[in-house]
Amino acid sequence: MSADEVDPQAVDGAAKPRVVGGDVVVAVDIGGTKMAVGLMTMQGELIDRAQVPVDHGLKSEELFVVLAEAVDQQITRARQHHRMSPIAVGVGCAGPISIGAETVSPLNIFAWREFPLRQRLAATTSLPVYGELDAKALALAEGWLGAAVGKQNFLAMVVSTGIGGGVVLNGQLLDGATGNAGHVGHIIVEPNGRRCECGSQGCLEAEASGLAIAAITGRSPTEPTYEIMQRTGRLVGIGAASVCNLLDLDLVVVGGSVALGFAATFFNSAQAALDEHAKLSFARGARITPVRLADQGPLIGAGAVAVRGIHRGRRSAGVRVPMTQ
Ligand SMILES: [Zn+2]
Repeated sequence: MSADEVDPQAVDGAAKPRVVGGDVVVAVDIGGTKMAVGLMTMQGELIDRAQVPVDHGLKSEELFVVLAEAVDQQITRARQHHRMSPIAVGVGCAGPISIGAETVSPLNIFAWREFPLRQRLAATTSLPVYGELDAKALALAEGWLGAAVGKQNFLAMVVSTGIGGGVVLNGQLLDGATGNAGHVGHIIVEPNGRRCECGSQGCLEAEASGLAIAAITGRSPTEPTYEIMQRTGRLVGIGAASVCNLLDLDLVVVGGSVALGFAATFFNSAQAALDEHAKLSFARGARITPVRLADQGPLIGAGAVAVRGIHRGRRSAGVRVPMTQ
């Protein structure tokens, strides 16, 4: 059986109207500055997308209304424009979240603290909703269709407004006790460094995220100096080395607007720091490399969360889908 043969009726037992064009999942990516919504086929092709900015002046409910309208528009486009049938919603959300994005409390979206995102989206869409940390979703996408295809062990990182990560170990995406495994943004890289939103000090996120760069330099991370690009890469490389040493990894894939925007300067600097700090025999030679799905990764990741959820719902053993577990 392939991913496109999923019968939506098996997902939640409820019959849904089906359109001839095939099934799509609605992918939702929630970050500190924008919320993106798209439509993904069961093969991982993104066929539509839109995004709305996160207005930090809005209250919790008002922000949800903005998201719900964007989701509703994509569902309408799926049916009317693409003649496709939306069968589930997949969400990638900045952390922390509770398992399945039942509640979300993104550090950089102050309006949402333990916001019941999964249930609210399920109520407004009448579709099954599956949620995951954004960086874990990206790890699913890169392992399924991107720079980590075929890799059983790797770290995926997002270096953007904030910094997140997802770890695949022995072919399994790590969850941890509360689903938050992979928060690489809170590895300490400067013991006496800046205060972090998490309450600690000197976290990678407090030193190298887009928000941190803006606070430190007074400049937008879209207008970096050479030194800033190099420093950001070095700090990310140091953090990546700690994870490679700890977990016996030889591949780190990095996405996010800051990392991809800083491009070769960032990656060369990150690789040099990784080489410098990953010295154990098993970690030596570890590579840090850009994500392959580029700016589609977060939405394909969110879609992959939905595809994984559908297959888990079917208990379909042996299906080759995003990180089956
Ligand atoms: Zn922190």
